[in-house]
Amino acid sequence: MASITVNLLAGFKPSSVVKHVLAISSSADRSFAPLRNIFAASKVTEPEWLTAALANLTPLKETANTIDFLLPSAQEGSPFVKFVVAVLPSTYSRGNSPSHSHVVNSVVKANKGPGDVVIVVSPNDATAAFAQACAASRCFPLFNLKSGQSTVVTNVDIVVDSDAVSAAQLSVIRSNVENIRLAQRLVDMPPNLLHVDSYITEARVVAEKLGAEILVIQGKDLEEQGFGGLFGVGKASEHPPALVVLSHYPQGTTKDTPSVCLVGKGIVYDTGGLSIKTPTSGMCGMKMDMGGSAAVLGGFAAAVTAGTLTAPLHALLCIAENSVDERSIRPDDILTMLSGKTVEVNNTDAEGRLVLADGVHYAGKYLKPRVIIDIATLTGAQLIATGKKHAALFCNDEELEALAVQVGKDTGDLTFPLLYAPEFHKNEFRSQVADMKNSVADRGNAQSSCAGQFIANHLEDYFAAGGKWLHVDCAGPAFAEDRGTGYGVALLSQLTQRLN
Ligand SMILES: [Zn+2]
Repeated sequence: MASITVNLLAGFKPSSVVKHVLAISSSADRSFAPLRNIFAASKVTEPEWLTAALANLTPLKETANTIDFLLPSAQEGSPFVKFVVAVLPSTYSRGNSPSHSHVVNSVVKANKGPGDVVIVVSPNDATAAFAQACAASRCFPLFNLKSGQSTVVTNVDIVVDSDAVSAAQLSVIRSNVENIRLAQRLVDMPPNLLHVDSYITEARVVAEKLGAEILVIQGKDLEEQGFGGLFGVGKASEHPPALVVLSHYPQGTTKDTPSVCLVGKGIVYDTGGLSIKTPTSGMCGMKMDMGGSAAVLGGFAAAVTAGTLTAPLHALLCIAENSVDERSIRPDDILTMLSGKTVEVNNTDAEGRLVLADGVHYAGKYLKPRVIIDIATLTGAQLIATGKKHAALFCNDEELEALAVQVGKDTGDLTFPLLYAPEFHKNEFRSQVADMKNSVADRGNAQSSCAGQFIANHLEDYFAAGGKWLHVDCAGPAFAEDRGTGYGVALLSQLTQRLN
């Protein structure tokens, strides 16, 4: 298990004997000035050839350029220190983050080694410092059940070389790093450990730590209160489904102050239900189907910790296990949703939109939102539309959409908009016997937009009152190489600050 400390370079003291240093410079500066601080901290004498060697390390166009070398050290317990020096690419496209955070992530992943490591980033500004530190931290997941390894602690020092980062900004970086790792751990946990009840316990721990209010509506209570979607999807599990609502009211606000609501899909395991997935290829990895709710929990915690919110913030986790037994919802069942609308189920594997439709409707009806943001690993089609790095946005407000794209670039949690033209897509859900079906008639018609539109169908009153809504489909970026990425924590925490 890795313990991560984030500090500024000025006055940096390593948390253990330095054995391995990874210095990543932005292409604008190849003097690698911070190395001198690290030499001093690790009792290494700078070799004469270093300046010439580093001057030769020219930036490449799209990938990092790296060199590595070993230098003798006077530290006790480490006769040599390994250095890897990387320079970030000279260019980036307009769809990418200027911070090159994804390159930082791959450089750290490829060069971090097995033990303690000091990672120095030299960002051009405070925004890039945030994105680069978060990107580096994603390489050290917390969850590991390999025997004998759970008690081994690796010290990771992330050192930010920037005069532009204030003490307040440093603590924002720290709380985002901490909560990105929380989201990663939750996604990495297998469904036999992270089921609905243990997930509720995790949310209670977060609420207690933050001093946030928490409301849990679970099982029969959901059914009685009309959550036909969330209850229906989760009722076949031994752990009944739940809506968990964490609420933070900054000083001077009341329950009537217009709020921001974050709503996350929390399918702790998705078998597909009776419309079952292919058990080998399609089901493995479906523990990650709660990634949206993990982003909401982490993003909420990071935003509240910053202590600068001026509007109430709510985190709604729609938690359920989509499993198979005689209680499962069937294709052809008709559910009555919290919105009062009826849904004819034609695909039990399109369950995320059912739980989210109830979640966003609850937010619109009871929590006085001026902005609702939902986030979900919702459609495989998201990967076809915007790929593995960019979540897809579906939004009823142009300004909010543009802000989410910008915050994506700022944080490294990249986003890109989908087509928003509901009048062309509503018909995909037509049903002879209910208000709508839950899955489209034609998968070749803007499928990810349609999935978002299904959720929007349950926000009609909210839209009529002028409410803004953003849907984030993160099916691709939430999970990479069999690990949770912590996608969405930084995006939501920073988006929330900007909506303040
Ligand atoms: Zn599904």
